[in-house]
Amino acid sequence: MLEIKGLRVAVDGKEILRGLDLSIDAGEVHAVMGPNGSGKSTLANVIAGRDGYQVLGGSVSYRGQDLLALAPEDRARAGVFLGFQYPVEIPGLSTAVFLRAAVNARRKHRGEEELDAMDFLVMVKGRMKELGIREDFLQRAINEGFSGGEKKRAEIFQMALLEPELVLLDEIDSGLDIDALRVVSDGINRLRAPDRAMLLVTHYRRLLDYVPPDRIHVLSEGLIVRSGGPELAGELEESGYGWLRAEAASA
Ligand code: ADP
Ligand code: MG
Ligand code: MG
Repeated sequence: MLEIKGLRVAVDGKEILRGLDLSIDAGEVHAVMGPNGSGKSTLANVIAGRDGYQVLGGSVSYRGQDLLALAPEDRARAGVFLGFQYPVEIPGLSTAVFLRAAVNARRKHRGEEELDAMDFLVMVKGRMKELGIREDFLQRAINEGFSGGEKKRAEIFQMALLEPELVLLDEIDSGLDIDALRVVSDGINRLRAPDRAMLLVTHYRRLLDYVPPDRIHVLSEGLIVRSGGPELAGELEESGYGWLRAEAASA
């Protein structure tokens, strides 16, 4: 599904990712952990195609296609979804209009018929109930007046509607209380599927207790310095990230 080789990325001329390799098979959930500033968001953002990053070298292939050659909107159409660490409010843009356009862009890409306003509403309202999304959600502007937890919930909800194939979630767990974390985790787990891959960026083990990953990678100073199974989350919680600095210094 995703194969990253030797990826080097700079921000403002400073090299942040320094030759990163990572591959994720369809059906798998991988977690990327690591200290603040290690490049986790940079990795997720570069895969999604956000502005402000210079790719210095390496490759990112998605279903055998050169992802870096695609515009961000084409990556989204092709099924790449990035959930934000801090979902933004977009005053003036109706959630219903935005979501229908996004859903129909995905449907078109898959050769499916587009949904008219009525069919879309029926589909969306059913799903809103499942995820406990507040009823005025569709009438509001994107995320306007939502609490942090509500924004994250809305983010997961949008993701479910788009039926993405590669899901990138950047600290979706930050700032969530335990109930919101459960709702968000349930939403993520519901999306686990044999034809879908997920990359969860997180600082903490808590999310991974609810969404057990197949693999965990530890990022430090722009490189994956350790990979392992789910048990790695527990080890990290005990040892912290201090050992990384020692390891980097000796290397
Ligand atoms: P993480 O998500 O692991 O905390 P980031 O990918 O956000 O790490 O950041 C990695 C490094 O890149 C940090 O040193 C950060 O200061 C720098 N960086 C990230 N984004 C920007 C930006 N837009 N402008 C300047 N520096 C940035
Ligand atoms: Mg950070
Ligand atoms: Mg980050």
